[in-house]
Amino acid sequence: MEYIDLRSDTVTKPTPEMREAMAEAEVGDDVYMDDPTVNKLQVKAASMLGKEDSLFVPSGTMGNLLALLVHCKRGDEAIVGDKSHIYINEAGGMSALGGIHPRPVINQRDGTLALDDIRASIQTEDVHHTITRLICIENTQNVCGGVPLSAEYTAQVGKIAKDNGLSFHIDGARIFNAAAALNVDVKELAAPADSVMFCLSKGLVAPVGSMLVGTRKFIARARHLRKMLGGGMRQVGVLAAAGLISLEKMPGRLGQDHARAKNLFEGLKQVKGLKLDATEGSSNMVYFDLADHIRLTVDEIIVEMKKRGVLVDWAGPRRFRLVTHYWVDDTGVDKAIKGLADILK
Ligand SMILES: *Cc1c(COP(=O)(O)O)cnc(C)c1O
Repeated sequence: MEYIDLRSDTVTKPTPEMREAMAEAEVGDDVYMDDPTVNKLQVKAASMLGKEDSLFVPSGTMGNLLALLVHCKRGDEAIVGDKSHIYINEAGGMSALGGIHPRPVINQRDGTLALDDIRASIQTEDVHHTITRLICIENTQNVCGGVPLSAEYTAQVGKIAKDNGLSFHIDGARIFNAAAALNVDVKELAAPADSVMFCLSKGLVAPVGSMLVGTRKFIARARHLRKMLGGGMRQVGVLAAAGLISLEKMPGRLGQDHARAKNLFEGLKQVKGLKLDATEGSSNMVYFDLADHIRLTVDEIIVEMKKRGVLVDWAGPRRFRLVTHYWVDDTGVDKAIKGLADILK
């Protein structure tokens, strides 16, 4: 059975064009910086984000960790959202591996960290205090609904960082979704930041890999630390070849995923028994809760949906997150809406 897989955009398998490019990729030893396909990808990613240089990394988690390790020393503090991937979904790598102290700031409903909260979280010089080194934001903000953060907001965070001598990192796992949702060039969203990580392996459909972008000096340091973490790969042009197609072909079509998420949201709004968030449909994600009168558990609904050919995943004890992507068409969206309506009727 062919399932409609709405669990995440990480489930995207490579397109036939990607598989062909992977098979034919020119490769070399990337630890020697000898892989022409990786080099090409890194030049392209840096130029698209408007930064000097970039580095191909095995995962977004490693990309974020490298940024944290370059910007902060052991014992330094990094301001992070309390609902950020860095804070809750990266196995505590920043503290376990970097000795970096997280300073969580509340993510507002719109995904932002309130500017006053950021200012108030910057440590003053005092023998008791840690040293604040870094501000991190996430764009799109996943847990808050896949919401995009505007270029204006990002610039304001950048100004706070600059005024206080701090570095500024964006976890832009889905920054191309943010750019599409806001209808701005991704460069504008990246400009205020010292470093940005984004994933090739999600809405951009590549099978593996993320990019870290920043200054030449920052990337040189990140390359050294990537080797330390065991992320120096050899003939990895076979993966970079897919990533190049991601950058060439996929940013321009993300609007289709967002339109389908909006249709999914509108359809699910008609289904009795679901409470949809207000920020939904802003990019490629739809979050909703089960109404109090629904007796079925999240797990039972997952099983029933699977019987109807649709894979969904939970996002809390009474909560779901559905994600549209390249391999979900209009029929898939209809199937998901009809499936949930049928199960909850
Ligand atoms: C997926 C994701 C990452 C990193 O993901 P990997 O699975 O390690 O590639 C980082 N931040 C956010 C917001 C994400 O959604």
